[in-house]
Amino acid sequence: MNAYLIEGSSGYALVDAGLHTRDAEEVLRRSLADAGIGLDQVGRVFVTHLHPDHIGMAGTLERAGAQILMHAPEIATARRMWSADHTMVDETYAWFERHGMPPDVDQGMREAWLAMGRGVDELNHVAEADDGETIDLGGRREKLKWTPGHTDYHAVLVDEAERVLFAGDHVLPRITSNVGLYPFSRDDPLGDFLDALRSVRTLPVTRVLPAHGEPFDDLPGRVDQVLAHHDGRLAATLDAIGDGERDAYTICRKLFPVLRSPHEERFALAETLAHLRYLERRGKVRENEGAPAGWSAT
Ligand SMILES: [Zn+2]
Ligand SMILES: [Zn+2]
Repeated sequence: MNAYLIEGSSGYALVDAGLHTRDAEEVLRRSLADAGIGLDQVGRVFVTHLHPDHIGMAGTLERAGAQILMHAPEIATARRMWSADHTMVDETYAWFERHGMPPDVDQGMREAWLAMGRGVDELNHVAEADDGETIDLGGRREKLKWTPGHTDYHAVLVDEAERVLFAGDHVLPRITSNVGLYPFSRDDPLGDFLDALRSVRTLPVTRVLPAHGEPFDDLPGRVDQVLAHHDGRLAATLDAIGDGERDAYTICRKLFPVLRSPHEERFALAETLAHLRYLERRGKVRENEGAPAGWSAT
């Protein structure tokens, strides 16, 4: 996972904060020390979205004196997701069961999620930034752009002066971002995501700084690859349903035959459901009543 240090005329800022493990904190402190600064010199941290590998150490930076900023509507979901009462975990657990996830996998998934939560610091105050707003990071002007899909209110930053895009998990060089449907998601996360990909395709940038993998230059080329990938996955989803009626977990295991952990199972099922919802909203498939719920082509 990459966090980016911004140095400008008025100081230092970070984009994303990393999961809070002992090793990651060590790496963060050492990397800042290599740049000649201490944790307490980071003035602001912009967190692209609520995932633990991005928001994890924000609380540590806040306690060291930084102001934490996020796209405003992402903040409430982040608080719910990492709250001690685990309501979102319970809700998701029941939802996956309805979609055919075997109970033992569901239990493993739940534990993996709770373990993840232990790498997320408590946050006191998070400042709100809006879609289209220009925020000051260390004296540089960064324009926030809402890019839903990977999470509902994921945001990227466009540095028009440097022609750089801080892409978070929206566009990644080697892997495609996970786009999942959850009981608390917006209605059509994959539809959101594909629209948001098209909307960044023509941004005036020559360098993309992703949260995972190496920086890259050809944004339109990468966007086109990811769009083509999802076209292929949508066709494969229809094939996996075939003529009959199948639950989402069965469809998922046709699309993802090899899954190595409860974590991967969760992402795979949520991703399958996002593709099913996308097809449903475009009249290609139907979700039928039942336990588990069945899906069929229209
Ligand atoms: Zn993420
Ligand atoms: Zn990530």
